[in-house]
Amino acid sequence: MSFWSGARTILRPGRVTETARRRSDLEQARVPASTLRGSVQLRHVDAGSCNGCEMEVVSAFGPVYDAERFGARLVASPRHADALLVSGPVTRNMARPLAKTFDAMPEPRLVVALGDCARDCGVFHGGYGVEGAVGDVLAVDVHVAGCPPSPGAIVDALRGLTGR
Ligand code: SF4
Repeated sequence: MSFWSGARTILRPGRVTETARRRSDLEQARVPASTLRGSVQLRHVDAGSCNGCEMEVVSAFGPVYDAERFGARLVASPRHADALLVSGPVTRNMARPLAKTFDAMPEPRLVVALGDCARDCGVFHGGYGVEGAVGDVLAVDVHVAGCPPSPGAIVDALRGLTGR
């Protein structure tokens, strides 16, 4: 492949990122007054999800939905996080690690419950391995509805945190 043919292949798709919605068009959850405006660092914890929510988180931070352009970023350590992004119902084995992860975060800190399972255990309600919803373990500040929530809904909720 020549240089020019390679360059044409790269340039042909053009811009793939979703056009940003205007802030006034967003239906955002009530976000508590906080000092997190501008940017938010998120530690994601799968507390017992089916992985559907994780697939949408990957899309939300991928090149098409690109949540980072609104100041949201995933980080590897709770010590660097402003908000805890929790998916799935909380399984018995994950209740304590989830609480310890939250305890490791500096204040101010928020909890974002991602998906219907995080809100009320969803399809896993009553399961023998389920401790409860995220709200049974931690105080939830923002809930993103859906099973799974769409990448657009995740980005909208995160824009509510960053104010961008
Ligand atoms: S809300 Fe739906 S996609 Fe997300 S963990 Fe529960 S069942 Fe899976």
